[in-house]
Amino acid sequence: MRISKIALIMAMMDEAKPLIDRFGLRRQSGVFPDPVPMEVFVGKRGPSQLALVWNGRDGDYGADNVATQPATLAAYLAITKIKPDIIISAGTAGGFVKHGASIGDVYLSRGVFRYHDRRIPYADFAAYGIGSYPGTDVSAVARDLGCKLGEVSTGNSLETIAKDVEVIDSYGASIKEMEAAAVAWVCRLFQMPMFAMKTVVDLVDGEKPSHEQFGENLRMGSARLQQALVNIIDYCGGKTIAELAK
Ligand code: SAH
Repeated sequence: MRISKIALIMAMMDEAKPLIDRFGLRRQSGVFPDPVPMEVFVGKRGPSQLALVWNGRDGDYGADNVATQPATLAAYLAITKIKPDIIISAGTAGGFVKHGASIGDVYLSRGVFRYHDRRIPYADFAAYGIGSYPGTDVSAVARDLGCKLGEVSTGNSLETIAKDVEVIDSYGASIKEMEAAAVAWVCRLFQMPMFAMKTVVDLVDGEKPSHEQFGENLRMGSARLQQALVNIIDYCGGKTIAELAK
């Protein structure tokens, strides 16, 4: 089967807006049940139908719905209501100087998605907490479009504590963000192909705290994300899942 419907799941409107503008995506109402905050923007690009799912804004706090709880719901809704051929968890992330990352790098996911902040040191729960959710092999996409490949680690904090780094280092992930493992977990349940595409906007082992770097680089990171997504969408449209790997 060839890829013709691509769903993007994005947490922040700052990250999604450049792509919505670039493709002239239109907001479509009535796709998801009324009370959920997620919004869908649709359009066409070459052979592909696009559906960008933005996680929406929290009604009480006015903040965009970042992190794993909304990402899980967005993935479930995207799969069941939009029925895409593939899902891309797209956004910004923290990278690591020690793994060669620089601000503005575009990473595609490799291997499995895991959690670095679900510490449950009790019997089987320890391994359950970290998890291991496979993503689609997109090595050919990375090779042909010049993106880096790295394992993605997810948690519910922008801030990083030493224990997070210890867990991330135990499996050698090179990208830290707040949504992808949740999306990957739902995708595994539904046998839905998925991968992540993340632009580095802060260096976790850099000199300043992530949130300061995040604020300085979010605009640039979202613009880079948009350029990279255009190339990825053009690349994936009309290909088979297997062709993304070889
Ligand atoms: N203070 C920010 C909050 C955004 S939370 C604001 O101005 O709104 C960070 C978002 O960017 C999440 O969606 C997460 O996936 C991503 N992210 C970027 N850098 C990250 C890092 N170092 N650690 C965790 N998530 C990061």
